[in-house]
Order: sequence, then C-alpha cells, then structure tokens
Amino acid sequence: MLDLDHARHRMVDVHIARRGVSDERVLEAMRTVPRENFVETGFEEFAYEDAPLPIAEGQTISQPFIVARMIEAAELEPADRVLEVGTGSGYAAAVMSLLVDKVFTIERHDKLAETARRRMKAGGYTNVEIRTGDGTKGWPEAAPFDAILVAAGGPRIPEALKQQLDIGGRLIIPVGERPRSQRLMRITRTSGGKFDQEDLGGVMFVPLVGEQGWADEAGATAARVLRGRSLPGMIAAAAEELPHFEDPAFGAMFDRFGDRRVVLLGEASHGSAEFYRARAAITRHLIENFDFTIVAVEADWPDAARIDREVRLRPASRAGKPPFRRFPTWMWRNTDVQAFLHWLRDRNEAVNDSRARAGFYGLDIYNMSDSIASVLAYLERVDPQSAEVARQRYGCLTPWQNEPTTYGRAVLSQNYRKCEEDVVAQCRDLLRKQLEYSTSDGEEFLDAAQSAQLIASAEKYYRIMYYGGAESWNLRDRHMFGTLEHILAANGSASKAVVWAHNSHIGDARHTEMGQVRDERNIGQVCRERFGDEVALIGFGTHRGTVACATDWGGPMEVKQVLPSLSESCERLFHDAGKPRFLLDMPDGASWREPLGKPRLQRFIGVIYRPETELTSHYADASLPRQFDAYVWFDETTAVTPLPMVREAARVPDTYPFGL
Ligand code: SAH
Repeated sequence: MLDLDHARHRMVDVHIARRGVSDERVLEAMRTVPRENFVETGFEEFAYEDAPLPIAEGQTISQPFIVARMIEAAELEPADRVLEVGTGSGYAAAVMSLLVDKVFTIERHDKLAETARRRMKAGGYTNVEIRTGDGTKGWPEAAPFDAILVAAGGPRIPEALKQQLDIGGRLIIPVGERPRSQRLMRITRTSGGKFDQEDLGGVMFVPLVGEQGWADEAGATAARVLRGRSLPGMIAAAAEELPHFEDPAFGAMFDRFGDRRVVLLGEASHGSAEFYRARAAITRHLIENFDFTIVAVEADWPDAARIDREVRLRPASRAGKPPFRRFPTWMWRNTDVQAFLHWLRDRNEAVNDSRARAGFYGLDIYNMSDSIASVLAYLERVDPQSAEVARQRYGCLTPWQNEPTTYGRAVLSQNYRKCEEDVVAQCRDLLRKQLEYSTSDGEEFLDAAQSAQLIASAEKYYRIMYYGGAESWNLRDRHMFGTLEHILAANGSASKAVVWAHNSHIGDARHTEMGQVRDERNIGQVCRERFGDEVALIGFGTHRGTVACATDWGGPMEVKQVLPSLSESCERLFHDAGKPRFLLDMPDGASWREPLGKPRLQRFIGVIYRPETELTSHYADASLPRQFDAYVWFDETTAVTPLPMVREAARVPDTYPFGL
C-alpha cells in the first residue's frame, strides 16, 4: 500500500514550502486535499510528484508547486469570492475552496467539468460551482471577484477578466506569445480604471483557448505537444526507433541483452513477416557478437533436427521426411525463415570449430503437429465426429483460442473417450520411431536412458493433450522448458540460447489472465523462475496489417486483415505513440511502468485467427511491463510469404529450406 498521507505531507514540505511558498493557510489546505483523487486512474502514485500529470482531453493537472504559488500570489482571504478559469481536474478549485467563501470555476471541456463536479460532490466541497464555457469571457453574473486565477496560458490578458475584478482584486494569469511558454502575471485593480502589473516569473501552461485566448487550431497544436505527458506520449518519449532489418544497427540495439543466458523473442502472431525478420536480425547479432550457439524455436523437434543437420554441416541423412510439411506449414516454411537458415548455414561454414557453430532446435520433442495429424487421420477413419472434436481442441493448444463450444461437443461424442487408448498408442509409436532414428543419427543429444524416460512420460503427455485445456497447455510448456534445459546442458555450462516462440509462451504468465485466471504457466515464467536475471523476455506487437493464418485447425492458409487494435488495448497505446517501429526497453524504475502495467487487453493471434469473434477469441488481460523486459513494436505488419511444398508423389524432391 502506498502511504499517500505521508507522501502528501512530504510534497508540501519538500516541493512547496522549501521552494518558497510560506503562507501557512495555503500549505495547510494542500496538506488536506487528497490530490490522488484528482488524477486519472493509474496515476495515483504519481499524485505527489511535483509534476503536471495528464488528464482527459489532452489536458493536465497543474504541478503542485505552481498551484500553491498561484494561490499564494492571489492573497486569498476567508470572505473572498474567487473565479478560476480552467477547472481541469478540479484540484486547484478544491484547495481554494478551503481558503475562501466561494469558488466559481469555468472549464471549456464538458467532460472535464462533469468529472470535476462529481469529485467536488464526493469530496464534500460544497462551495464550488462549476460551469462549462469559455472562461476568457469571465462569469459576469457572479462578478465582481476578489481574485481570478487562470490555469491556462493565452497571448494577452483578457479584458473581460480585468473588468470583473473588484477594486483591490488580483488576477493571476500566465501570458505569453508562444503557446507553451508564458510569464506568470499578477494584475491588481487599484481603482476603477487603474491596474498594477507584476511579473512573477516564467511558467509553462496548457493553452487558454477561447475568444480572448488562442484560436482553436493554435491551441490544438499546442495541446498535441502536451500529449508528451500522456501514456502514449511517455511511450513515444522512451521509444527507440528501429533501423532497417538488414542494418547492423538493428541487432546492436539489443546489445543490452547480450550477456543473458537465454533471450526469448516472442511474436504477436504466427504469420507476420516483421516478427520473423526482427527476430532473425536480433539472433544474427547475438550469435555473431555474444557467443549464442542455440536457436530453439516453437517447432517440432524432428523437423528442426533435420534442418540442424544442414545448418551445422553435419552429414545429411536421407532418411525421414522433408521438414515442416504439416499444418501450420507457413510458420517455418516461409521466405523469412529460409533466409535466416541460409545465413545460419553460411555463418557456420565460416566457423572452423564445430562446437562454436550455432544449432537450430525444435522445442516440441513430442512432435506436436505430426502427432496431431496422425491422431486426426486415425479418428477421421474410425469416428469422424470425434475427429471434429479433436480438431476443435487442438485449436485450444494455440494461443487463447476461446472456443466455448469445444467442451459441449465432447459430451456429444461417446466415442471420443473410447478412442483415447488407440490414439495415445499411436503417438507413442511415432515418438519411439523418431528417437530410434535420431540416435542412429550419431548426435548424442539424448542418451538411451533419456529417450526411455521420454517415452514413458509421453503416455501422460499425449493423454492430456488429447483432452485439451489448461493442463495440456502447462504440460506442453513445461515440456518445452525441459527441452531447452536439455539443449543448454548438452552444449556445456556456458551455452547461451535464443528462443523463438509466441508471446503467449514467452510473456511471464503470472502477469496475464492465463496465469491468474486459468492457472496456466509458460516457458517465459519458468525461465525467469529458473534463471532469474539471466533471462530476457522480449514481446512483439502490432496495430494492424495482414497475417497468414487459418480459420480452423488443419485448414488452408489464408491471408487475413488484422483489425486495428481495440481502443482499450495495450496495442492502442503503442499505436497512439505515433511511431512506426521501435524498441521499448522497460527497466524497473521507469516512471511509466506503473501506469502502463495496469492490466489491459492484449491481442494474441496464433495459427488460427477469427476476426469475427476477435474480442473473445484473441484478446486477454495482461500487464505488459511485467510480462516482458522489453517490447518491439511494428505499427503495421504484413503476412509471411509461404514457400510452396513439392507434392510427396512428385519426382522432384522437396529440398526446403536448401535447394539443390
Ligand atoms: N486548475 C487545473 C488545471 C487544469 S489545466 C487543475 O488543477 O487540474 C487548464 C485547463 O484550462 C484545461 O482543462 C483546459 O481545458 C482549460 N481551458 C483552456 N482554455 C479555457 C477557456 N477559455 N475556458 C475555460 N477553460 C479553459
């Protein structure tokens, strides 16, 4: 819990009294009004920093010191009637209400006026009256005033305000030729037609927009500048723009993670080219400059193993099928992956010490797509209805496919359970064959004992996978982590790995709905638990574009439009930051981490994308800066370009990714 009372007293002592405000009544009023009730949700803990904070309509709540300074300069007396122009949050009006008889305050944005009115009521500030309108014209019916305070800066002093001062009345107003830079002026009406004028120093206020202030457009421009104070503005300020993928400077932006043992790179969909290209550029850099020798991806282990043989220039084996021929083929059979694998092979060729060559590994030892494909083929034969159920359930193994009908359908199908044993036996056989094949291959990544153990626990794995749900998700991620540990161990105690997997596997599940509501864990979380600071979790995101995906598990690849991100999502904040591509490092202590960390909708597109039901099928709550250490943003993304498959019956061999 934040001790806000303590913070409030500290603010008054340190930021206000010590800087020269000495009117004890003003200080006391500021110790009394809870400023946290006047800031936007999520900003409470910043309420007592001596800074202006963003409020709705692109406006700001003034810096506490300035509020105190202006009120002190107005020399308020208990019997005074005061006019404020620019209610904003209502904070300054609430402070003044404790010092005078009556406060009239005008705000040009109706929404702000309404919120302020609610706050006054809730806080029991009964002597404050709020009106929506142009304050440069004053409030003639309530004039004359003993004091007028203007909380926005205009090019000149509005005549109406001068005229509405009582004799002896004080007008405190920022005035300046430029929208964001003013002098704070005190005008005192000494007699009917005489005014004294004093300059109290330089200040920076939002523009005073109105008949006797700035014209709308000028004000709007200046207000846009002030968005620097809003959350998208803070993101924009902290964002580091990314160069072209092929520019070595791209990878160099990730030098800061070079000393980590494991760097996990996410993706917000399985079918957007920019995510693959960015991960390739980062990975190339880490391999070349920081001794990373493992690239472990969210792919089937046997398929990756075939590729690994080629990229590490080990004797190619003619046995086994060409890699990545199963749904979803575009994930690992596309032009960007191909380009990366070519690079990896060329680079390894130039490295004489075979141990220093970087390998390519699949984290799914249990060979998910092959297993699923053979299960589906089997069920299709013996019980098509069960096959349909299974297909739906496999959809759930990909990120956040909320398919409420899945469970109902299972009840319909009595045969589903009956098929379980056969299905599991099939998967087990498949695995056994693979392991035999891999040990005959001479790469002693798994010894005989490990293989036997793997086969024994596969039973449970396949059984649970067959039924779907949180437990199967956990098992898969635990298993992927187990594979990663194996690979690291097999490569020696100094080995370092880059992991490519979906954001849903990488973003620490404890800070997402999947962890908090569904008890799901993931590889990112387990890596943090196991390796602590030696791990970097890097998420990727996009606002809109096109994506390669399918509508159902096993269906054909389509290119769909990614809908613009929802207005209340994290993605929208990044979009509003207004920069096309950037890295946002999110170190502890960054001032925007807390407000950004409020749980917000985040989008997850896997191999399946259903824009028709996007909110329920693809969005879940998550706290971005807690999930990830850094975030890579591409405002617009494009679908990957899949590479064609040579039909199995064709005479020409399928040589992906390396042509003859
Ligand atoms: N006293 C406020 C400061 C708000 S910032 C607080 O403590 O929170 C200034 C406010 O002046 C903004 O909300 C802006 O919308 C408002 N404003 C600007 N021009 C105005 C005008 N002509 N009439 C009334 N309000 C105006």
